[in-house]
Amino acid sequence: MRLVVLDDDEPITDFMATVARECGWEAETATDELAFRALVRAMPPDAILLDLQLGETDGIAQLHFLHSVNYTGAIVLMSGFDSRVLASAQHIGESLGLRIAALIEKPARWAEIRDVIRAIERSFGSKPTGTAEAAPHAVQARADLISAQDVGEAIDAGQMELHLQPIVAAAGHGVTSAEALIRWRDPVRGLLPPGRFVSVAETDDRVIDQMTMWAVQTGAAQYRRLAQLGSAIRIFVNISGRNLQSLDFPDRMAALRERMAVPDHAIGLEITESVAMEDLDVTESVLTRLRLKGFSVALDDFGTGHSSLTALRRMPFSAIKIDKSFVSELQTSSDSFTIVKSVIQLARDMGLESVAEGVENADAARLLTELGIDHLQGYYFSPPRPFDSFVTWLDGWPRGVTPHPNRGQPRSATSIATG
Ligand code: C2E
Ligand code: MG
Ligand code: MG
Repeated sequence: MRLVVLDDDEPITDFMATVARECGWEAETATDELAFRALVRAMPPDAILLDLQLGETDGIAQLHFLHSVNYTGAIVLMSGFDSRVLASAQHIGESLGLRIAALIEKPARWAEIRDVIRAIERSFGSKPTGTAEAAPHAVQARADLISAQDVGEAIDAGQMELHLQPIVAAAGHGVTSAEALIRWRDPVRGLLPPGRFVSVAETDDRVIDQMTMWAVQTGAAQYRRLAQLGSAIRIFVNISGRNLQSLDFPDRMAALRERMAVPDHAIGLEITESVAMEDLDVTESVLTRLRLKGFSVALDDFGTGHSSLTALRRMPFSAIKIDKSFVSELQTSSDSFTIVKSVIQLARDMGLESVAEGVENADAARLLTELGIDHLQGYYFSPPRPFDSFVTWLDGWPRGVTPHPNRGQPRSATSIATG
């Protein structure tokens, strides 16, 4: 295992490196940005100890750098500031998709650093690196650079998979729908989560369009197979805010649905608010037209963006998905509890369905149900699964399937009803 320490205070870098070596790690140190970046570029380490205050630059700039090189190892943040600064830095890192393994308030004791290093070792299990493959570092560094074109080619090559995660009714826990989540089975890198390539795809309008169309088409095909098996549950596909910037998107979506011969209610869409609202006028038209064409549209990750309430006021959403960061803190943070409670109330008052994501245990499910949530989703019920595994899970789910009352009609009936 290899560690790189960045702190502008040399005695501190030496101290940290010594602790790491005592734990059997290789350790290298840097006291300025240039040296640090050179070390990371030459060979991405398994873990990085990063001081937030660095003289001319700061730890946040380094987090953006690590994001830009697709660093996947563990990051430990250190600061002499109060814990709120550390918590904000952690949040920034996590929103960049980085793996923040621990926070250390300086001055740190030997035992504290040692425990953090040991915890990182444990989190890697037998695998020596934070990436999908235990490839040699140099190879890994090259393999980590993903371009939009790579993503487009992977879609063409049939390397994408659409996994399904059940969404259950809070009342009775019958399965009402499923969320479709994309994964890339790369022959070299292994199974990549969307965090590794969706934002890359979004840099190229053509590629993100291709990805969305692939996901909707695959979701529709999955709906049909589920319907044949007697479980006609709606599939919610994630679409990018970029898609909502093109005015003909609703037409192309409806045409695709028609071509796949699935009923209007077969496909729902989830949109993350932070990227959804670039040009509010265009977004509003596109969303409204999607609704008119019979798509349910959920506002995803509610509470994490910058314009939640503006988005809610202007856009005709049919459901709110409360972000998992609030749900995971439900039992430990009274602020999160209050926010979740209010959002559920807000959804109800606005006539929207509410969905909680990230439900990981029975207590959270019970609490959310008491607060009046409509639907629950999370590892407590099931993680996202490949299609066949999802079908097996569904077969064994004792609470069965509770599709929406207006579902399961033949295509012709809904076509007449909706013109
Ligand atoms: P999302 O739409 O908010 O999806 C929920 C994420 O939470 C998924 O991560 C899911 O695996 C994870 N999750 C589910 N239950 C739990 C739980 O109990 N605890 C925790 N900690 N996590 C849980 P995933 O699959 O890595 O997807 C990440 C994001 O990537 C999605 O967030 C979505 O924004 C995006 N995404 C996924 N598939 C697509 C796609 O086909 N197209 C686009 N444009 N974006 C996609
Ligand atoms: Mg989603
Ligand atoms: Mg979400």
